[in-house]
Amino acid sequence: MAKQPIKLIQCPMCDSTNIKYIVEDRTYKKNGKKIIVPAVPREKCFSCGEQFFDQNSFEIIEAFFENTKKTATG
Ligand SMILES: [Zn+2]
Repeated sequence: MAKQPIKLIQCPMCDSTNIKYIVEDRTYKKNGKKIIVPAVPREKCFSCGEQFFDQNSFEIIEAFFENTKKTATG
């Protein structure tokens, strides 16, 4: 399957076309700890605030957590 970033032109939540591609930190909470994954690309609807992650976003997040696991060992 070809890996193609999803390019949203219309928000599936509110039908707005006010969607922009942004790269921002993403904050997770895990075991009561705050984890910040830096520079996660995604599409954001500026009308309803909904954010949409594509395959590329998930790969960056996954890679980050893989690294965290490795460095956190011990
Ligand atoms: Zn929206």
